[in-house]
Amino acid sequence: MLEFCVYTNINFRCGQGISVVTTPPIAATIAASAAFANRDDCGRMSPDNAYEEVQLPGRGNGLIANRPIQQSELIMLDSPIFVFNENAYEDLEDDPRRQLIWRGIDQLPAATKSLTLGMGKSAGGDAIEDIMQTNAFTQFFGDDNVKHETLLREAALLNHDCRPNVLYRFDTDSLTHHGHALHKIEPGEELLHTYIDTEMPYEQRQEVLLKNWGFSCKCSLCSQDEFRLLASNTRLSRLQELKQKLVTPDSAREMLSLYDKEGLIAPKFRVWEAAAYAHNEVGEKRNAVKYARIVHEYAMWLLGPENEQTKFWEVFIKHPEAHGSWKARLR
Ligand SMILES: [Zn+2]
Repeated sequence: MLEFCVYTNINFRCGQGISVVTTPPIAATIAASAAFANRDDCGRMSPDNAYEEVQLPGRGNGLIANRPIQQSELIMLDSPIFVFNENAYEDLEDDPRRQLIWRGIDQLPAATKSLTLGMGKSAGGDAIEDIMQTNAFTQFFGDDNVKHETLLREAALLNHDCRPNVLYRFDTDSLTHHGHALHKIEPGEELLHTYIDTEMPYEQRQEVLLKNWGFSCKCSLCSQDEFRLLASNTRLSRLQELKQKLVTPDSAREMLSLYDKEGLIAPKFRVWEAAAYAHNEVGEKRNAVKYARIVHEYAMWLLGPENEQTKFWEVFIKHPEAHGSWKARLR
């Protein structure tokens, strides 16, 4: 059985503080991250926030754009308040597990603790476990096999949409959640991200959202008429079919067109990658480079210029012939 500990740093992010409930080795990895090097780094956006928090009828609080937001724009920086190793659900009985959780919460600065306790709930049971179930993001720290529930204050205010306009990445070294606009957003529009796999058919999306978050989705997609929902389900099932097979230049084009019709942007990333390889495999250098450039552009804003993937595509664009996929299907 695993051993768990509570690590708290009350100085984190200008006094926001953070508590981590995990195994001692993972706690040591987190405590050693660059995020704790500078006490004065508040890890927040400038006062020129792109959104404000408002109460929305029937759906709690949400975030509304207060100015035009451009595609790819970084609109949110947030840092975790509470991090919890999910293995503790299996390895610890209810009482000792909740004792650890509450110790972590009690050790937070008073303002952060009260803010955490005010977060939305949906499932009942222990208040913090319910708050985590309702609001937490899943992250990995040091070990890619160990899921951690991560509570963030601002990011938790993003409501769900099966066709989201915000995509995030989490940087484990700076312990910072970066929220980017997936497409242009107008003032007055709600900022939305997805809680689920956006490529599931309508019925499955409703089932998962109801089971895990206790609501029926009435988002931009789910509130469409029966006819349009059926067309969407048909496209999604065709996408699943295509994803099972080896990607060719033709199937990549079909998938990209299906994603466009579905209003899905994030999953196109994988297809652009596959399309770059597929064209390279048949020696179509121009198209291979064309798709590689798109991947690189997205990697730049989503993953950052220092990311290994970003650097990889930079090299690929310059020398597609040097990659192992070059003319691989012609040999
Ligand atoms: Zn929906």
